[in-house]
Amino acid sequence: MNKIKKYYIVIPIITAILSLIVLVFASFNTTIVNKSYSLFTEDLNSNNISTVIMDNSSKMTVLLNNGDRYSTDNPQTNTLKESLLLTGIEVKDQTIPPLAKTIPIVILALSMLSLTAMLVTKSKSGGSSITYMDMHDFSKDKNSALDFDAVAGNEEAKESLMDIVDFLKNPEKYQKYGARMPKGVILYGSPGTGKTLLAKAVAGEAGVPFYALSGSDFVQVYVGVGAARVRNLFKKAKSDGKAVIFIDEIDAIGKARGNGKNGSSNDEKDQTLNALLTEMSGFGQEEGIVVIAATNRLDMLDDALLRPGRFDRHIEVSLPDVNAREKILSLHLKNKPHENLNIKDIAKKTVYFSGAKLESLINESAILAAKDNSDSITSNHIECAYSITLAGYEKKERSYLKEEDKLLTAYHEAGHGLVGMLLLPQDKVSKITIIPTTKGAGGYTLTIPEDTNYHRIDYLKNKIKVSLAGRAAEEIIFGKDKISTGAHGDISQSTDIALKMVTEYGMGETLGLIKLSSVGSLYSSYGNPVIEECKNLVNELYDETIELLNENRAFLEKIALELLEKETLYEDELNKLAI
Ligand code: ADP
Ligand code: ZN
Repeated sequence: MNKIKKYYIVIPIITAILSLIVLVFASFNTTIVNKSYSLFTEDLNSNNISTVIMDNSSKMTVLLNNGDRYSTDNPQTNTLKESLLLTGIEVKDQTIPPLAKTIPIVILALSMLSLTAMLVTKSKSGGSSITYMDMHDFSKDKNSALDFDAVAGNEEAKESLMDIVDFLKNPEKYQKYGARMPKGVILYGSPGTGKTLLAKAVAGEAGVPFYALSGSDFVQVYVGVGAARVRNLFKKAKSDGKAVIFIDEIDAIGKARGNGKNGSSNDEKDQTLNALLTEMSGFGQEEGIVVIAATNRLDMLDDALLRPGRFDRHIEVSLPDVNAREKILSLHLKNKPHENLNIKDIAKKTVYFSGAKLESLINESAILAAKDNSDSITSNHIECAYSITLAGYEKKERSYLKEEDKLLTAYHEAGHGLVGMLLLPQDKVSKITIIPTTKGAGGYTLTIPEDTNYHRIDYLKNKIKVSLAGRAAEEIIFGKDKISTGAHGDISQSTDIALKMVTEYGMGETLGLIKLSSVGSLYSSYGNPVIEECKNLVNELYDETIELLNENRAFLEKIALELLEKETLYEDELNKLAI
């Protein structure tokens, strides 16, 4: 409906422009020469005048017998009119402007009025248009009606949601048994794992309307608007009888309150959350409305949301395992031409990829294939797209690179590659390159991590060493005073791992088996010794990395020089160098 309204606004604009054009033409036509009053009296005396048109203004128009016309000063005396009439000259009173002008003026005025009226209502409805704008009734749009076939993998989540679909389809069946179906379901898991997709599929499978709203929409808006939006949403959904209401990023409104740092109370959030809870307790079982919320983190949510009768079913939507990845890849390849692709292999290489990332990998490959005018997507396109998804586009223009910078990058990346091969053979080094990326990296080393759910302490320590190996190689080859900012990302990675080891995984001395974020307000008193311990841990690992690189310096140089020459080295080339 909004779209049609948008078009309506064009009508007064067009009429205004048209009437302006007419007005301009009309005034062009009526621009006539001005003559002095004495010339007028001359014409009068020589009987040249046929008509005089007078209005209330200080000018009058004179029409001559020969058809010419001019204007002259109107003395505005009654005697003039009389004397003119006496000489047999027609006198026209024209207190109203000619029709040619009035009509466009009226139209112009009307257009301006309706235009302002439209703009005012539009800005007024700003509040209400926000409350409505995010609602998409997907069920009415056949193309976006999805079913569970559109979601690959996630079998447990689908099964759990199948109950909800059944309930939406046959509520009587459950009522007969006195079963209480959940009013609210929370889907939780990493971004891009298909939570939105699942929610849409529930609506699609059950054949009910789908309404979506995102929690983050409430964060910036004025107080009260969020709550109003929630109420509107429920009103709209109820008017449909059955519906699925989807609230993405529920944590934006439902973050736990009064918990240390993030307990800063925010009226808007509270009001919105309360409105949501009120609405949810306001409808009964029979109504057939299910609220599905999505979040990346279940543990961040306010308890009030998780109580029975509210969002009491929690379904994890996890990152796909290798089989699920294969299914997701196949699904997204289905309508795209492809040839000789080993989908199993791609699935193996895409450890920790979410569904969204897999989709983007396939999409990127399709774009590359189209650019190449290739008949189909080949494994080469996938390979290229894989590097792009992980590291960004290669910079095409590289002539500006200085030789010494390339040398530095070559040793830095060779350091990562070498230590990776030596310490973490299970995480295969699949590619090392010194071609800079548009994401800002000077080069990068890609590894395919092992598909596993947990990591041992020695793995984590080795991972830190691999991260630090770039900097360590720079130091060994160029000296401490020549180290670069290239290790910026590596340092952030190793810091993260070290911090987690000490504060979350119970692998440190300072806290032992205590998790730092759970100690609440005592947190600050533990901060410093924790940092001290992390620093010592990382320093120690760094020294060991330097030692390891020194022991294998010949190999390091071999990789670096090969990189300088070829710019990119793949797994098999690296293995050959190792022999
Ligand atoms: P989330 O809501 O969990 O952040 P989305 O549902 O928005 O993730 O997923 C984004 C996109 O990723 C989807 O539109 C789809 O193309 C793709 N995708 C994610 N998970 C899957 C899956 N399990 N099967 C198929 N496609 C998926
Ligand atoms: Zn690095």
